[in-house]
Amino acid sequence: MTQTQARPPAVAGPAVKATPPGQAGDAPAGGDQPVMFAGQRHLLDVDTLSPAEVTSILESAEGMAEVLSRDVRKTPALRGKTVITLFYEASTRTRVSFEQAGKVLGADVINVTADSSSVKKGESLLNTALTLRAMHVDAIVMRHPHSGAPYFVADHVDASVINAGDGTHAHPTQALVDLYTIRRHFGRLSGLRVAIIGDILYSRVVRSDMHGLRKMGAEVVVCGPRTLLPPGFAPGETVPEGLPFQGVRVAASADEAVEGADVVMALRIQSERQSAGHLPDLREYSARWGVNSRRLSLANPGALLMHPGPMNEGIEVSSDVAHGAQSVVEEQVANGVAVRMAVLYALVAGKREIGQ
Ligand code: ASP
Repeated sequence: MTQTQARPPAVAGPAVKATPPGQAGDAPAGGDQPVMFAGQRHLLDVDTLSPAEVTSILESAEGMAEVLSRDVRKTPALRGKTVITLFYEASTRTRVSFEQAGKVLGADVINVTADSSSVKKGESLLNTALTLRAMHVDAIVMRHPHSGAPYFVADHVDASVINAGDGTHAHPTQALVDLYTIRRHFGRLSGLRVAIIGDILYSRVVRSDMHGLRKMGAEVVVCGPRTLLPPGFAPGETVPEGLPFQGVRVAASADEAVEGADVVMALRIQSERQSAGHLPDLREYSARWGVNSRRLSLANPGALLMHPGPMNEGIEVSSDVAHGAQSVVEEQVANGVAVRMAVLYALVAGKREIGQ
């Protein structure tokens, strides 16, 4: 049995766009592995992807979006493959979009939640992983409250592991969805200014977004209360060389962050992950850090308003802005299916059987 690598080396050389299923005849299950993830069995974060691989996934997602626009939204690309969604934390859009993505691609999708599994009976994560390995599943889409849990599982299974959010660490497919959504509007990522406001310390989305956006040449400006900034992030300064996320600008105020931005992203306060009270008062938070119409008007004309969801309207974003003309929040949700199809297809379609 082959041992998997939790952190495979990034692929050298340019990636080639994979043929999306249904474009020029449906790609048969078991065909060549798409080059976009050649050498990578898992998607645990975006930090291991090269810019060419990111571009390749985003281009493949365009083809998947075309499949989704058809009357019959179904292709046999992953027929005979089994995808498990293993969620130890609540989720609506991520879990449903992975399930839909797998089903449109013809895979069998089985949903497991901590509440409905042997985790309730005290089974360890290792034993759950070994059980799934014994069942020869092809992909495990996993969400877990502990940072690093998908890396651990990846080391013990033959399936592809896709991190659907681990603790405060990473949420790679959300980052790919965000990159895809921005690119669809501007036709590029490079040179755009993206302001991300809110809980920078505990949000796994912002970590993966910062990796992805910087990798693709976007300028990233973040801001939030001092108590919700990671070490090395000082208001009014740029994260210095040698620290993770070097080059990210930390604005001193939300107004400063939004000024001249092409994209403004609001983040939910991750209260379920916060160990202590980081905020004295939500009203004050909303006034100082919330994205409202006055603040959004400081951004470039035509700037996009994004939010990974779920939104706490009236706190990090006002309702009029959340549902206003500049909001692409629903588009992010819709794009989630196409992007997750691209990821599943890239990882699973060409995977060899165990032992081959
Ligand atoms: N849905 C995203 C996540 O799982 C964002 C959030 O919950 O605030 O990280």
